[in-house]
Amino acid sequence: MRTGPILLALLTLLAWPVAHADEPLPIFDAHVHYNLDIGRPVTVEQVFELWREAGIRGVLLTSRPNDGTRELLSAPSAEVRKVAFARPYSIMADVYTWFRDPKIYALIERELDRGLYVGIGEFHIFGKDADTEGFGRFVRLAAERGLWLHAHCDDYVIERIFTLDPGTKVIWAHTGMSTPPERVDELLGRFPTLYGELSFRSGIEEGTQISPTWRALFLKHRDRFLLGSDTWVPERWPRVPDIMAGYRQWLQQLPQDVAKQIAWGNGARLFLGE
Ligand SMILES: [Zn+2]
Repeated sequence: MRTGPILLALLTLLAWPVAHADEPLPIFDAHVHYNLDIGRPVTVEQVFELWREAGIRGVLLTSRPNDGTRELLSAPSAEVRKVAFARPYSIMADVYTWFRDPKIYALIERELDRGLYVGIGEFHIFGKDADTEGFGRFVRLAAERGLWLHAHCDDYVIERIFTLDPGTKVIWAHTGMSTPPERVDELLGRFPTLYGELSFRSGIEEGTQISPTWRALFLKHRDRFLLGSDTWVPERWPRVPDIMAGYRQWLQQLPQDVAKQIAWGNGARLFLGE
């Protein structure tokens, strides 16, 4: 058959402008942990190499303990812009007790006094634990200092945070992970300074296709979503380029301006002054 090469040439020709239009989108990674409490997952040089490979040009750092964040902050980098949150954990077990542990509150105050951070988190809190005085104290501390919160929590806690401080700014880690999309839509509608970070968020894809429900949510709330790698265990680090490729897979099914906003624009606007 002689049509084979001709067809191939035609397809190459058609693909040419598309390939240029599809320069990889820069990504703002709103969920980085460089945890050092159980050993160093990768070196600082490897972190920057992985970010380069993944097309990550901006990061929101939060680590256990905060030394990891400070190490990355102080590393010179022309390609990647960095912003940092103070994390209320020194060791993994703090995840259960941080909000009622005076030592952790003192640690956060000390850490914030360094003047390096724009938020507190990522922290974990669920249900009625958000009604405790201990948690309220952290929300007030953030309010007093004009800081963001990065909360891995359920929808009950989101309501509680905005009751404690209607003016607060919240990154909802994993966008509730499995909270029904209708409820996500409702909360985003009610709280204009709530932002959904999308690592481990279930339901976005059906097979290789973006789900109609999430497509509609992304179009309606295009200025409210952020991507994240969530390098919470060492095994996640070498996978960062693959994780970002996974995001690109469904981002490319959205209108390009919406995809750009979720991949980069929202993080850059909120944290890099763009
Ligand atoms: Zn996390």
